[in-house]
Amino acid sequence: MALIVQKYGGTSVGSVERIQAVAEKIKTFVANGDKLVVSVSAMSGETNRMTELAQQIQDTPSLREMDVLLTTGEQVTISLLAMALQQLGCEAISYTGSQVRITTDSAHGKARIKSIDDHRIHASLNAGKIVVVAGFQGVDEQGNITTLGRGGSDTTAVALAAALKADECQIYTDVDGVYTTDPRIEPNARKMNTVSYEEMLEMASLGSKVLQIRSVEFASKYKVPLRVLSSLIDNPIGTLITSEENIMEQAVISGIAHNKDEAKLSLIGVPDEPGIAYKILKPISEANIEVDMIVQSVSAREGLTNFAFTVHRNDFDRAQTILQSICNELEAKAVQSDDKVVKVSLVGIGMRSHAGIAAQMFEVLHQENVNIQMISTSEIKISVVIGEKYLELAVRSLHAAFGLDKE
Ligand code: ASP
Ligand code: MG
Repeated sequence: MALIVQKYGGTSVGSVERIQAVAEKIKTFVANGDKLVVSVSAMSGETNRMTELAQQIQDTPSLREMDVLLTTGEQVTISLLAMALQQLGCEAISYTGSQVRITTDSAHGKARIKSIDDHRIHASLNAGKIVVVAGFQGVDEQGNITTLGRGGSDTTAVALAAALKADECQIYTDVDGVYTTDPRIEPNARKMNTVSYEEMLEMASLGSKVLQIRSVEFASKYKVPLRVLSSLIDNPIGTLITSEENIMEQAVISGIAHNKDEAKLSLIGVPDEPGIAYKILKPISEANIEVDMIVQSVSAREGLTNFAFTVHRNDFDRAQTILQSICNELEAKAVQSDDKVVKVSLVGIGMRSHAGIAAQMFEVLHQENVNIQMISTSEIKISVVIGEKYLELAVRSLHAAFGLDKE
């Protein structure tokens, strides 16, 4: 008998039939003697639909009212799922985020969970009930409804598992696990049976969309065993995300992530003197534009240097305008910008103990004649920025070169 927290994503609860199928699945666990807490997303497409409704009224609606609006999506699915369970003869009860005191800070639209009051949940579990909790939502100290950011139901589930000290947190989604790379790009991508928190964190922040990054941070902090599984096919293994020491056979490279939302901006011919990086990036950060990679070249002739960085493509136009005015101010030579770039990253904790991975990566890209525009590394990842048209080629050739298609 185990205490399991499960999360079903939007596709898994996307219709009445799917909700009934989820209820059937939950029933098999209960029949096994397990105690279940289930967190759900809104039905697929609902959060977007409501966002569009709001935008028909205001371009930038108040974040507080957006949270009141969007949390209704999950309120629909918790009640329907509880009904579907009751229809199957299971005792079930639904709770919104505020009913089980998922307390967050007041950052509407991207709130962080501070605490969860587990009393009510434990009481219901002890009364033999399946507890269904709305994902993605919480309440701040003043009683305002908050949301945790898109994809936030993953984080709700992990936070519930941490608070309840559950044996496992299972994320049911429309893929059957975490893959070595995006199977839409490389059909030979393999499902991993295990991956470390650290690697998953890199993969999530580098563009793998399987889990919300915060949920992985949470799982890693509280050491919650986190399993990604398909709600559509029966495979109880999925991918287990766990501590490094629980992983038996560690490959050197675990996966290849990519991010298509990149755009690159460069300032050419800026004076190479103290304060330049600050003068360039301060106005960018003041405009709330997040900068990812940063490269400053070695000072060329005439004491001039080039300064390049990447931003999210959504921020490209704004960043370009700001950089143009910085260019004028600093009397730099020119702004060069390119929003047809992507980032491809190798991820693996085995990199720590293996030298030469970067060289091997660059050799593969050289053989394919792919020009590397920027490079950044950490202990467990190497990322390159390359032209968008080389994305598939780069991912596939790296996947093969590092043997990720083989067991
Ligand atoms: N319904 C929210 C969204 O679409 C939260 C979630 O699904 O995790 O982002
Ligand atoms: Mg999701």
